[in-house]
Amino acid sequence: MKRIQAFKLRLVPTIEQERLLSRHAGCVRFVWNKALDLQTRRLEAGMPLLSYGDLAKILTLWRSSKEYGFLSSGPVHPQQQTLKNLDRAIWEALDRTNPKRFPRFKRKGEGDSLRYPDPLQVKLDLATRDAEGRNLLPRIFFPKVGWVKVRLSRPVVGEIRNATVTRKAGRWAVSIQTERNVQEPTPRTSPEIGLDLGVVSFATLSDGTRIHPDERLLRAMERAEVRLRWEQRKLSRKYRKGPKSRNFAKQKLRVARAFEEVANMRQDFLHKTSTATGETQAVVYVEDLKIRNMTRSARGTRETPGRNVRQKSGLNRSILSQGWGTFLSFLEDKLTRRGGRLVRVDPRNTSRTCSDCGHVSAENRPDQATFRCVSCGHADHADVNAAKNILRAGHARRACSPGQPGEFVA
Ligand SMILES: [Zn+2]
Repeated sequence: MKRIQAFKLRLVPTIEQERLLSRHAGCVRFVWNKALDLQTRRLEAGMPLLSYGDLAKILTLWRSSKEYGFLSSGPVHPQQQTLKNLDRAIWEALDRTNPKRFPRFKRKGEGDSLRYPDPLQVKLDLATRDAEGRNLLPRIFFPKVGWVKVRLSRPVVGEIRNATVTRKAGRWAVSIQTERNVQEPTPRTSPEIGLDLGVVSFATLSDGTRIHPDERLLRAMERAEVRLRWEQRKLSRKYRKGPKSRNFAKQKLRVARAFEEVANMRQDFLHKTSTATGETQAVVYVEDLKIRNMTRSARGTRETPGRNVRQKSGLNRSILSQGWGTFLSFLEDKLTRRGGRLVRVDPRNTSRTCSDCGHVSAENRPDQATFRCVSCGHADHADVNAAKNILRAGHARRACSPGQPGEFVA
């Protein structure tokens, strides 16, 4: 079985290399904008779009022309790649069944990136000692830039398929996609568990395990989130004074850094917790978020909107609920890697059904955290009760779909 994996590494370029990377990213941006302008004009004039092949030929002309010859100072592959991306983005925007936003012109410093689609163009050198035995940083080779030092946060395994260099908040990083052969995992069916995504706790398992950032992490996340909002407010004030000012640009960088900080903390938490569950369970039943979001909008935040929820949990909610989708995709990845499975079930009524006797009533939930069955008196933590119901719903679905155990879409 082939396994494709992405590794993100911080680049440590010299000032000269940074200048080159900036310039190459500028060339890519120029090609994108120029080609987007071309295609937009054709659309407006009612002419057919140029194909990627046509655009690639035009790029060759640009690179050898007097006017746009500066493009040839940058590597050609990322420039061709941006044309491919543009071609796809335009067609996706024109797709009537599922239209996406029409591609926009890129401004300097906005999503700067260089994608090297050809693995032969990029070399990774992990040697950490030179001939005299001195320690060296691992390095990576990019055409027309040379060897750039990298920081390895974890070992890179597999053969490089492509690499993308990006600049975010003034920092350069490379994301390397690799491919390698791994043994086909043997399918596993036990143990199984139900998982409830909550507000009071980030997630709760049907065995009672609570998945939640500890107090220290939660406080750090809150602080980072508050800082982010503060920097964003400052940004909008600076925008009013002058969107082109130096102060505005500086503030934009501060916002981007604050955002990165929040995102990194969340990502880290999601990775750790999804690993813990993904490595100990074989089948995890979860609520189908798509259905849940549909039913939730009509019903308030939850089937029984919290009366006793602390004021602060508004912030917690925004910090944590943003991570649900990512958490589930991490978890699914970790489960399937080991032969397990993530199964989505219909979330309807899972929070107000008694996991003991099956009685369904909104009155079973006196508040956000408590479940007390008005019929049989069964009492449990509300999230644990919901997780047990999710596990049961998963079992029920499996029992009524013969042939393909677990192969169902809610
Ligand atoms: Zn009951």
